[in-house]
Amino acid sequence: AKRQDHYHFATYDDAMQQDILEKLTLRAELQRAVENGQLHLVYQPVVDLEEGRIRGVEALVRWNHPQRGVLSPTVFIPIAEDSGLIVEIGRFVQKTACKQLSLWNRIRGDKAMTMNVNLSVRELLEPSLVAQVRGVIEDSGIDPSQLTLEVTETHVMAQVDLVSERLHQLRDLGIKLAIDDFGTGYSSLSYLEHLPVDALKIDKSFTDHLLKEETPVTLKTILRLGQELNLKIVAEGIERSSQAESLLALGCVYGQGYHFARPLEAEAIDEMLRHDENG
Ligand code: C2E
Ligand code: CA
Ligand code: CA
Ligand code: CA
Repeated sequence: AKRQDHYHFATYDDAMQQDILEKLTLRAELQRAVENGQLHLVYQPVVDLEEGRIRGVEALVRWNHPQRGVLSPTVFIPIAEDSGLIVEIGRFVQKTACKQLSLWNRIRGDKAMTMNVNLSVRELLEPSLVAQVRGVIEDSGIDPSQLTLEVTETHVMAQVDLVSERLHQLRDLGIKLAIDDFGTGYSSLSYLEHLPVDALKIDKSFTDHLLKEETPVTLKTILRLGQELNLKIVAEGIERSSQAESLLALGCVYGQGYHFARPLEAEAIDEMLRHDENG
């Protein structure tokens, strides 16, 4: 038995070393990826559930790795956060997203479309963030109210005082703030009343419940809370029309998910906008 334990331990150790090596390699490659323009954005439509019309998009970053193909942000964003590279990546994401939005404003002939951009806590705590976002908005010529920054609930709760101060500064720019993956944290809900929040993104796990139960009580409670606080509510991860219908019946106005559209290249969104007459 002892020998077996030893054997087990050794392989575990090996696996861990493999893992660390892999991460170090990716980190070095990510540094170059940023410099070499291997990152790009895809955009997932946010639709109104009533008509299924595109009202905005969420920008999602992709890494076109020369050997490994397109890598998911779930693989490289954690590495970017640990190494601080996230600050540079964030700058790229914000710049690219706002520039893209200004092009779509031109196609549509108005400034009604919205752009959601994800923000990790590391970026939120960066002293230069507010000036950076202000600069990006000015350079692109978008209306600040078109931009929503999404932060996850756990991140908000981690350092609530500093985060709160930063969120207020961002809000003063005229942009909107959303809590991402809402409902997945174990935090007190009272913070919602005190933080400058405009929108809730309901986590996919709640949308999933709709496939099993008629009206899951947690989802109902979240929706009522959001309505009570006058927040814009967006349900994530809608994969079936039945979910969209249930959500609409429960008073949820906006949604995202593969049922409507996957994250798309900018050109595909161009097409959608050109064919969406009264937007
Ligand atoms: P998120 O912000 O919660 O984004 C939603 C994720 O769900 C996206 O994965 C999206 O492609 C996926 N999704 C959308 N609709 C459906 C659906 O109907 N079914 C399923 N199964 N999935 C759906 P993605 O693009 O891989 O992004 C993963 C996470 O990476 C994001 O989660 C976000 O936390 C992070 N991320 C992405 N882009 C950025 C970025 O530019 N900056 C930062 N800091 N984080 C980012
Ligand atoms: Ca998000
Ligand atoms: Ca989310
Ligand atoms: Ca997430």
